[in-house]
Amino acid sequence: MEFRHGNRKNSRPSRPSKPSKPSRPLCPLALVYPFPLQLYPLPPQGAVSLQQFESLAVARLKLLKSIETIGISYARGSENYNKKLEAELRKLKFPYRVYSDEKMDEYEMRRKDHISHFILRLAYCQSEDLRRWFIQQELDLFRFRFGELHDKQQEFLEENGLEYRAIEPEERERLSSKLQTSSGQTPVVIEDQIFYKVPFTDALELVRARKAYLEKGLVYIPHHEIVIIILNEFRQRLSKSLALTSRSLPVIQSDERLQPLLSNLSCAYVGQDYSVQRNVGKISLDQLDSLATKSYPPCMRQLHNALRDNHHLRHGGRMQYGLYLKGLGLTLEQALLFWKSEFIKGKVDPDKFDKSYAYNIRHNFGKEGKRTDYTPFSCMKIILSNPPGQGDYHGCPFRHSDLDLLKPKLQSYKISPAEINQILDLVKGMHYQLACQKYFELTHNIDEIGFSLNHPNQYFIESQKILNSSRDTKKESNQPESSQRSQPSQPSQPPKGESASVSTATSQAESTDVEGINIEELLSEGYPE
Ligand code: SF4
Repeated sequence: MEFRHGNRKNSRPSRPSKPSKPSRPLCPLALVYPFPLQLYPLPPQGAVSLQQFESLAVARLKLLKSIETIGISYARGSENYNKKLEAELRKLKFPYRVYSDEKMDEYEMRRKDHISHFILRLAYCQSEDLRRWFIQQELDLFRFRFGELHDKQQEFLEENGLEYRAIEPEERERLSSKLQTSSGQTPVVIEDQIFYKVPFTDALELVRARKAYLEKGLVYIPHHEIVIIILNEFRQRLSKSLALTSRSLPVIQSDERLQPLLSNLSCAYVGQDYSVQRNVGKISLDQLDSLATKSYPPCMRQLHNALRDNHHLRHGGRMQYGLYLKGLGLTLEQALLFWKSEFIKGKVDPDKFDKSYAYNIRHNFGKEGKRTDYTPFSCMKIILSNPPGQGDYHGCPFRHSDLDLLKPKLQSYKISPAEINQILDLVKGMHYQLACQKYFELTHNIDEIGFSLNHPNQYFIESQKILNSSRDTKKESNQPESSQRSQPSQPSQPPKGESASVSTATSQAESTDVEGINIEELLSEGYPE
């Protein structure tokens, strides 16, 4: 592959034009989406129904969350990383490959990619934290897909106005020894290499890692490092676009259909819906203390312990823990008994409890007020909304506790100092759910969690599966060999027959509400015509 020599073009976004050598008559989508990768310069045209809007967004959210998990488990660019990511893209039907004979399905996938990217821009432009998370996952996705373009990289860059100036042979010769030293690869035949000259601000990462020669504010980059520059360009464009998108928020927030949907998407839980009570009545109140130690995630363990110690929890804690217990299968009667027996040990007398607190518990079970059956909170909701204040115990300890407080807490949970450091590294990188996954692995003595943690109730279920299966295994190992099952159960797999569902604003929406949403119109502010 060879990059064209010449000046870098003005990279003003433009609609992609047709691919240079069509092998057969092109469908209209082929003209809009010539590559399985986009820089998303402009919003998609046309309208999508509310249902499509949500399903496309959820699919991309699943993809981005997988990218986050894979990126922590495997080194980016490693064989395992690429394999896992490729499998995920294939499973969720997102494009990543150029085919010699591209079919309609492929272009439809590219359209889905385009629309879903813009929907998540709407949802993830709303705060600094959300923007940072979104940009990071999109960059990782872009890096992988750029690599998959192989010999189409040059064409892709030209289409998108990204051309970099390769230095002339005389300059390469003059700088030969410096380029040799800085390339970090030995031995390198400098004469066989293409080097590009770019402003150092475009290549800070390479300069910092001393992987490129810097002279008079310009950096000389070997061909194989060009992806870093492209990523930098993509990052800048995306960050600017998110700032532009946030200017459209007043319009979006005035749209009754979109506002709840987008704010739910930004803290959406993608997985099983725990609002549907399973295992009702299978847990007794006597078991809760032991379950809290063995199978509760740290957020719920903290709430349970605080309730036992103080005989009281404030509203945020009662909501978070109360709905979690409901998701565990506690009946309304059990919940009332549990909270009352604990509160009356403190300063609340039985009458006050019945008047002031019982209503809220019945409300959570859909027996009062609007009679909504409330859903247990997902990790994203706990992490992103209603941060705890003084005297509160709700929230996510990985997100909301100071490291100075988190450390002794983990020590008290019998995590070793080296393991605590592994968790704290993830917390410092703002990978809160991954820190919790690591905690799960350590406390359950397993090498790999085998699922993507999104929900405290999911944590509990997975923990119980492991603990129960090891109990079964122990029991079985005490029996004669002939009676043992040949296939032990796989604790980390989702339960059979439980299909994943998504708890977002429109999952309960009327299917007839399909008035089209035009993303381009929503984003009219600041995007070029
Ligand atoms: Fe709870 Fe989720 Fe935080 Fe774990 S990551 S402590 S399950 S909110």
